[in-house]
Amino acid sequence: MTDAPAASAPATAGASAWVTVDASAIRDNVAELVRRAAPAQVMAVVKADAYGHGLVTAARAALAGGAAWLGVAQLDEALAVRAAGVDAPLLTWIYPPQADVRAALDARIEVTVGSRWNLETAVAAARERGRPARVQVKVDTGLGRGGVLTDWPEFTVALARAVADGAVEVTGTWSHFAWADAPRHPTVRAQQERYVEALAELERAGVDPGLRHLANSAATLTNPSAHFDLVRPGLAVYGLSPVPDLGTPADFGLREAMRVTARLTQVKRARAGQGVSYGHEYTTARDTVLGLVPMGYADGIPRHAGNRGPLQVRGRRHTIAGRVCMDQVMLDLGPGFDGAPGDEVVVLGRGADGEPTAQDWAEAADTINYEIVTRMAPRLPRAVIGGEPR
Ligand SMILES: *Cc1c(COP(=O)(O)O)cnc(C)c1O
Repeated sequence: MTDAPAASAPATAGASAWVTVDASAIRDNVAELVRRAAPAQVMAVVKADAYGHGLVTAARAALAGGAAWLGVAQLDEALAVRAAGVDAPLLTWIYPPQADVRAALDARIEVTVGSRWNLETAVAAARERGRPARVQVKVDTGLGRGGVLTDWPEFTVALARAVADGAVEVTGTWSHFAWADAPRHPTVRAQQERYVEALAELERAGVDPGLRHLANSAATLTNPSAHFDLVRPGLAVYGLSPVPDLGTPADFGLREAMRVTARLTQVKRARAGQGVSYGHEYTTARDTVLGLVPMGYADGIPRHAGNRGPLQVRGRRHTIAGRVCMDQVMLDLGPGFDGAPGDEVVVLGRGADGEPTAQDWAEAADTINYEIVTRMAPRLPRAVIGGEPR
């Protein structure tokens, strides 16, 4: 026998706070999305470090669940997927003129073309490489964000020329909704109609639009008429509801993949009338016990959630006492608290045992569940459960 620590002590062993990612939940959520979208295929969106869940963990779990494609925002995120040895079809949609599009094409990354300069960049890369650039066209059907908007007629002429010249190969044509989370909003139908029209205009210009895709999580779950050939869910992959007013994750057959835990680092008695944390925006109403939770806005706790954010200790919900600091928040645990430093604090979880959910945090901080999970900071170690997919 030896006292030496286990060779593979988990990264979370002595951590103040950490994120646990359930890879099996991501896999099962994607399998559910695949079932709902069929016969359309699923592109799992893993941008922003997979909404804070870990890019490579999530990419592998999504593929294990049956995703046919992966999607990322930034070109550098796509290169990171490839650097990890993940070889699935992969689309990127954000890059500046300085980006190395040629390297992306060399790595079999499909690049979105949503402007004239995007097209010119793809044509130039194709010339350098001596083979057509495989690109997906993005049309702005009304979101007013990325994609070709008013110059679509001129764009389609230039695109058709590039296709005829053998400079680009269009593998897909896509767009994005402004109000998918309000399925009855008139823009949903209007954008869908504009999208179908744009596809027809491409065909009339002699360009095969390739894979057609329009639906994010909300449209995947609520609007089958928008599924086309491929759906592009992000949030639902991680088991969160994009339409909390219409259904919980469980209502859609999904389960939350992220759990955030911290450990109390201080537990102490305080008298009634004690101001707590910067600016004393909370004052104890009675003699009580204060607890220090070592997570703050640098870790992803919204500063806006001071005196509002929910945390669970020993099975009981508490609200943050006073301001959120950079590295810590305080709790008024009540005069009868019998816990101790080292006790676990559940910051965010599935809610099945009364723990706060990402949705609860969103409501406490006037934001959306997307932002709550995505902002969990890189300095929090990630532990993966549910079988690290290979
Ligand atoms: C982020 C994003 C998605 C995924 O959106 P969710 O609402 O998370 O499903 C899909 N398409 C594009 C273009 C995106 O930027």
